[in-house]
Amino acid sequence: MQKIANYINGKLVEPHSGKYIDNYNPATGQVYAFIPDSNSQDVSQAISSAKKAFPRWAALQNSERAKWLEKISEGIHTKLEMLAKAESIDNGKPLSLAKAVDIPRARDNFKFYASAIMHFASESHHTQEGMLNFTLRKPIGVAACISPWNLPLYLFSWKIAPALAAGNTVVAKPSEITPMTAYLLSEICVEIGLPAGVLNIVHGLGATTGNEIISSHEIDLVSFTGGTATGAHIAKIIAPKFKKMSLELGGKNPNIIFNDCDFEAAIKTSLNSSFANQGQICLCGSRILVQRGIYEKFKTEFVNQVSQMKVGDPMNDQSRLGAIVSQSHFQKILSYIDLAQQEGGTILTGGKRVQPTGECKDGWFIEPTVIEGLDQQCRTNQEEIFGPVVTIQPFDTEEEAVALANSNEYGLAATVWTTDLNKAHRCAEHIKSGIIWINCWLQRDLRTPFGGMKNSGVGREGGWEALRFFTEPKNVCIKY
Ligand code: NAD
Repeated sequence: MQKIANYINGKLVEPHSGKYIDNYNPATGQVYAFIPDSNSQDVSQAISSAKKAFPRWAALQNSERAKWLEKISEGIHTKLEMLAKAESIDNGKPLSLAKAVDIPRARDNFKFYASAIMHFASESHHTQEGMLNFTLRKPIGVAACISPWNLPLYLFSWKIAPALAAGNTVVAKPSEITPMTAYLLSEICVEIGLPAGVLNIVHGLGATTGNEIISSHEIDLVSFTGGTATGAHIAKIIAPKFKKMSLELGGKNPNIIFNDCDFEAAIKTSLNSSFANQGQICLCGSRILVQRGIYEKFKTEFVNQVSQMKVGDPMNDQSRLGAIVSQSHFQKILSYIDLAQQEGGTILTGGKRVQPTGECKDGWFIEPTVIEGLDQQCRTNQEEIFGPVVTIQPFDTEEEAVALANSNEYGLAATVWTTDLNKAHRCAEHIKSGIIWINCWLQRDLRTPFGGMKNSGVGREGGWEALRFFTEPKNVCIKY
């Protein structure tokens, strides 16, 4: 069985302890590879090599760093098919999704930041005659980049690319649940001869390896994407040290559908925004709010189409939903479906485990599930389930829809379906979330700020925001 290696100081190396963690294929429920169980020695070696590599990397011209990012991007492009297959096996997502979204977006993240760093400029302020301020933006040092399992290579690269482009060196840890494509990325870095220590990838558990990374006094900033509880823990460690941190956390996103929406488009996109990647995208809309005038019509059509979505082998092109990422997450989702029923909810479709025949019979599959009859304050509507489970509820007025959208501790994304431009603008203004989609979902422009409000995080990724995060601004005031 394949053993994944750490990537430290330009080399693929075994963990010091010689210990490994099981890596499961969620579609079969079987172990198919082993992940390094990295300890403090591995982490400190990775951080030292990043520290050593920093001055030279930071001193390169932007155009030279951009060339390295281009090479990584090309390496991903060349291996797109293989990486997509690896992502699908590791995560359980349909191969078609990994091919169309995950891997192309990972490739594009490196390409985008190779170009962005060439256009990045900082402000200058002409204060008065004879007095000029300008902002000098310098790379900071060793960036710790920690990412989750739902969009493994895509979110991993979303941090690493701007960190490197801005001139930092990186110690990165992918999720221990989906480490494979991060490992394959390190193989690409070895193949292209990326200078030693510029990027280090250390595998292992969050509570041990991850915690060692963020607790080190030698790292200079942290970019984290994952659960809100983990984010709070990281903030407790990093905040007293006054280091920069960006936290992209959980969500419980509303999907608001007004009477005057484009009905067909709202149905079609809501199927995707509810169940893409088995509902395991932080931007998925898990609370569907439908205006009373079209509530029954929308519900009937939506439930009808959801019940026809095929769940099964991620390698099969016909599968709209693949497997849930891990057994513990699978059990957590099923327990929320039980809870929803205890709270008085009615399952309109789904709600059960799926057991395909053949190779996938022991895999962790769940039917796409729609639940009705719950009030806004119940746990099912307040807590992040992060699976193929949505609730649906009616509302009467725009004010009520906005209030329902906001009555949650999260504030990552919201979707609004209306053909009334003024209403769309009012909703965008009053809904408390970092991203608002109007009549669309998951459209991507890499220049836009990405991140959440409230318990969904602190800081923004994407475009200039990421390059600002990964640099330290210094104001220089000149009298001339
Ligand atoms: P998680 O918080 O359990 O783990 C995320 C990463 O943090 C993993 O690499 C893990 O090993 C590491 N980690 C865990 N404990 C750590 C510690 N003490 N110190 C350092 N690192 C530690 O999250 P998850 O289950 O992998 O991912 C699912 C969550 O991620 C969901 O809540 C989802 O909403 C969120 N998410 C948010 C965004 C966003 O952009 N806001 C994007 C994707 C996923």
